[in-house]
Amino acid sequence: MFNSDELTRIRKDFPILQTQINNHQLVYLDNGSSAQKPKQVIDAVGQFYQSEYANVHRGLHHLSNLATEKYENVRGTIARFINARKESEIVYTSGTTEGINLVAYSWAWSHMEAGDEIILSILEHHANIVPWNFLRERKGIVIKWVETDQYGNLDPTDFEAKITDKTKLISVTQMSNVLGTVVDVKAIIDIAHRSGIPVLVDASQSAVHQTIDVQDLDVDFLVITGHKMYGPTASGALYVKEDLLVDFVPFKGGGDMIGEVGRDKITYAKPPKMLEAGTPAIAQMIGLGVAIDYVTELGMERIKEYEESVKNYALERFKDLNWLKLYGTPKKQAAIFSFSLGEIAHPHDLSTILDQRGIAVRAGHHCAQPLMEYLGVNATCRASFALYNTKEEVDKLVDGLVLCRKLFQ
Ligand code: PLP
Repeated sequence: MFNSDELTRIRKDFPILQTQINNHQLVYLDNGSSAQKPKQVIDAVGQFYQSEYANVHRGLHHLSNLATEKYENVRGTIARFINARKESEIVYTSGTTEGINLVAYSWAWSHMEAGDEIILSILEHHANIVPWNFLRERKGIVIKWVETDQYGNLDPTDFEAKITDKTKLISVTQMSNVLGTVVDVKAIIDIAHRSGIPVLVDASQSAVHQTIDVQDLDVDFLVITGHKMYGPTASGALYVKEDLLVDFVPFKGGGDMIGEVGRDKITYAKPPKMLEAGTPAIAQMIGLGVAIDYVTELGMERIKEYEESVKNYALERFKDLNWLKLYGTPKKQAAIFSFSLGEIAHPHDLSTILDQRGIAVRAGHHCAQPLMEYLGVNATCRASFALYNTKEEVDKLVDGLVLCRKLFQ
């Protein structure tokens, strides 16, 4: 939990929060899409470009060594953040999308054949659907879906019911970016492992709001994305359990991922290097390291507790709005809410009116069209909270919604 002094100090760390939008102070509630950056991250990236910049792994000069050290140190920061056993289990990526594609191409492609099955949940973001669809189109694998109950809860035993001797992977989100559902991935992993099936967990949303412990989960693959964690865009990581990493084959070829290159014979570096071809996003990864230090210093459990209090407050306030349609009321929910005014107004109009009052929410399908279809809508409005959001901002959202309702009535 944060006290009000601490919250004031935290908010000062994020310069953009002082911005005026349409003559109102910004209320940024689009964190599920991308979070704002603290000045610690902005400064670290600026300083790197200002006085420390060089390419990594290649040079023998001072700046290149410095850049390499700073860049490589982040691997340890990420490993500690998710409690990986070894730094070598961390593959740098440009974000979740690249991480899942990497598992699809570097692992699943050579481990699956026509007729083999992958189980997904209906809550998945397109990043955890489309790469598997490539395997369906190009290799003939089969995708099976586990649906939620009417409240947006996923039942782990529903995964068990879908498992056959053809199942080769379960890939599931730990937190829905649309409904805020917190999924019991540990139970799903236990079930999958009893049948020897590996599990990929999409922690894009969850890693920002709660502690991740890959050893406790015993997860096989896990992906995080830096820009949602107060870090720069184009930063992220794929965790791969060590025993599975040896089964990976290179996907992108180029500099930095090789052992030796001859005209007729090429050898590859060991993973994770083997999976990190070309000049990487150096400044971005350094910025991600600083972002992780920032949340670690605040404490993930305290962040969770604080956000929980804002979520409960929002749910209380929404009770007064009996005309507001809330999508999903899962048993365990993060501070992510999807809503609409039903037939009265399109979510896009809702978002435009809120924007007139400086309130940034998202409207659309949230890159989760199968879920939208399941909910029977094309779009919803989504307010997603971060560690710097306040109860006063919940009040502003509620006032904005009341205004929308009046305008459209
Ligand atoms: N998975 C989930 C649950 C998400 O919410 C998102 C982004 O909204 C992604 C995957 C994709 O992340 P990125 O675009 O950073 O790769």
